Amino acid sequence: MNVSSLRCLRCHGEFDWDGEAYLCPRCPEGASVGDAGILDVQYDYKAAREQLFANGGLASERRDVFRYLPVLPLEQPAELLPAGGTPLFGVRTFAQQYGLAAVLLKDETREPTRALKDRATTIATARARKLGHTDIYCASAGNAAISMAAFAANTGMRAHAFVPSDASEVRLGWLTRLGADVRRSSGDYDQAFAEAESMRERGWYSRNCAFNPVLVEGKKTVAYEIVEQLGWRAPDLLICPVGDACTLSAAGKGFRELAAMGITETLPRLVGVQAAAVSPVVSSFRGVTLAPRPDEQAEAETAAASIKVKRPRNLRRLLSELEQSAGVMIAVGDGAIRRAQQQLAGEAGVIAEFTSAAALAGLERLAEHESLAGRTAVLLITGGRPDD
Ligand SMILES: *Cc1c(COP(=O)(O)O)cnc(C)c1O
Ligand SMILES: [Zn+2]
Repeated sequence: MNVSSLRCLRCHGEFDWDGEAYLCPRCPEGASVGDAGILDVQYDYKAAREQLFANGGLASERRDVFRYLPVLPLEQPAELLPAGGTPLFGVRTFAQQYGLAAVLLKDETREPTRALKDRATTIATARARKLGHTDIYCASAGNAAISMAAFAANTGMRAHAFVPSDASEVRLGWLTRLGADVRRSSGDYDQAFAEAESMRERGWYSRNCAFNPVLVEGKKTVAYEIVEQLGWRAPDLLICPVGDACTLSAAGKGFRELAAMGITETLPRLVGVQAAAVSPVVSSFRGVTLAPRPDEQAEAETAAASIKVKRPRNLRRLLSELEQSAGVMIAVGDGAIRRAQQQLAGEAGVIAEFTSAAALAGLERLAEHESLAGRTAVLLITGGRPDD
């Protein structure tokens, strides 16, 4: 394994790798004020690069996330539901309409449980089993919990899902079928997250992506795949819906690692998209931000359940990634997301869940703001579970 250390994103303290490490031991006050000291996994990138490549090509013949094992916090691949290896394909009408050289969809709706979350669950499940845990937990509006429950069902672990009071009945139905212990909060996702974290002392393994440092490592494999699929080049723009801020941060980390290893020469601009009704990252970012078009109706609520997060746990990580990539944060109304979902279905034939369609709504808004001529944009279609 090429992990060299863990670094706190808050106090920058450096710690030895420890498979059970969680939040920064030096930042205990952070967790209580919503600014936990989140640990970031560091690697020996020289060794990782040498292991990634052999005879001019990628050494691994695997098609799942373990293809990039040298940059993962695992000694060896585990036999789990196969996550990763999803297609990247262009949609010419989108490129024409928004004035880009190419608009490509990274189709994460093809993951085992229909969401990018499976990339993170892979690492969590592998590590939990290696450490001998029998129980795993997370807080989730649906996708993370369903992913966790499916991997647990597949490996004989017990899954505990902490869901917000407004969790969809369809998603709760799947959690039950997958055999999860469902704990419905009386509050929102942020409250369910706090309730889930209070269970850690029972020895359950955490699949809370923002806090457990190994999960982001699974999500970053999406950047490695995109770069490999583009012939070892980074796109100009990477657009993704933002909730707890793990997914876009993870992609940003992946792209930075690839550049640091000398595999790519450029970084994509990260473009985060939030629903206008719940857009804390747009409010916090000091760089370029875009509000919905003035003629868009302002909503008090959003149907984008998978990104309805008022206190994004990985905010600090994302703000740093946005700064390093000259990124943009965009707020879009639910009306724009609904039109984008229709357009993804009607023009690309892609069944994106409502939340994921925010990526296309974000591209539309960005293209109004500035010319994207000659650019290549990749949209992360993060999930494809049919909406209720
Ligand atoms: C979880 C999720 C997101 C957002 O990811 P964060 O890491 O919470 O920012 C976006 N889209 C879908 C479909 C998701 O399930
Ligand atoms: Zn710290």
